[in-house]
Amino acid sequence: MKQKVLEQFKQSGIIFTKAELAAIDYADFGLNNFEEEGLSLIVYVNNQDYCAKEMILLPHQTCPEHKHPRIGKRAGKRETFRCRKGLVYLYVEGVEDIIDSIIPQTNNEFYTCRKQIVLRPGEQYTIAPDTKHWFQAGCEGAVISEFSTQSLDEYDIFTNPKIAGH
Ligand code: ZN
Repeated sequence: MKQKVLEQFKQSGIIFTKAELAAIDYADFGLNNFEEEGLSLIVYVNNQDYCAKEMILLPHQTCPEHKHPRIGKRAGKRETFRCRKGLVYLYVEGVEDIIDSIIPQTNNEFYTCRKQIVLRPGEQYTIAPDTKHWFQAGCEGAVISEFSTQSLDEYDIFTNPKIAGH
């Protein structure tokens, strides 16, 4: 599986250093269900003012539903996803749509957002702080750039209680 992720990063059209490829974060959110629920990341920079990373989703792989809450006086993380390759189905809180993705079988009750945004290469969407969201790649997987305020993953709140940040 890691080999497939590595291949997707290498075929993304984006140049990475050997050190970046060696430090890929293969996040399985503690669910041991990586192929269905997981996400792989290369973080370029993450400091108190901003964060930039590239994310890879395998075909139909899903990042579980979560939100980025306010932490004390700091507003929750605001993030912009830009699709670079493949197709991304993004779901946020709001008016429910008929959805075109496949909700993961294993933990389907923890996917509650149904407002659908479809991102194709060159399209982007900004998720407001403290707003639940989850996202899934289409059948070819996806390469997504993320630009955001600081990532403090340990404060993320997942709908699935089995996930306690990562
Ligand atoms: Zn998020």
